Amino acid sequence: MELRKIIPDLYDNFLNMIYKKKCLICGCSKTDDLLCKTCLKDVQFLSYFAHKFYNRIPIYSAAIYDKNIKTLIQMLKFKHKKSASKPLSDILFSYFKKLNLKDDFIIVYPPSYFIKSAERGYNHMFLIAKHFSKLTGFEVNKNLIKKIKPTKPQYKAKDRRKNIKGSFRINQKELLKLKDKKLLLIDDITTSGATLEEIINCFLELDFNNITCLTISKTK
Ligand SMILES: [Zn+2]
Repeated sequence: MELRKIIPDLYDNFLNMIYKKKCLICGCSKTDDLLCKTCLKDVQFLSYFAHKFYNRIPIYSAAIYDKNIKTLIQMLKFKHKKSASKPLSDILFSYFKKLNLKDDFIIVYPPSYFIKSAERGYNHMFLIAKHFSKLTGFEVNKNLIKKIKPTKPQYKAKDRRKNIKGSFRINQKELLKLKDKKLLLIDDITTSGATLEEIINCFLELDFNNITCLTISKTK
């Protein structure tokens, strides 16, 4: 591992030694994680089978988008709380382990439009992918899917689908290198499924269908 990659980890461990970890939700310090056991109990995990198929591609969701999951996702996306990516990745991993999928995946995620990432100062899904990669040992590929136009927030499923059309492009050179691999497309929330379906369509147009989708949460 490169030194510059090791240093942030050391720094993290060093901070953890000085400051005792506190639960991001309730603030209690009797915890080894950023989400204490009591607050974790509030997470409503979903069943361990695909909740939806889109063109035969399975879409799994770990939990209901509600209560503490909702709070953590909102902290990460709107309140600059980068550390919320850690418990969210842990939740994703604890669900993923129970799926017992035997494949070696390459992790990919829907990228943000560059202006959105610049506003936030980070790409929240990259942070989740990075933690999840540490937990699973799977590589992350951040060059395969590109976002080529911004998406306005839309609430109606029909509008979202229209709005997101043509937003992503697959880097074909990169895909050639991965043609025998299996992709694990992860995301934070699925509502109408429009984002995942649009990305799947981009891959299908290029005759690639070796994809499994996994989201942290799913709206009720
Ligand atoms: Zn707590």
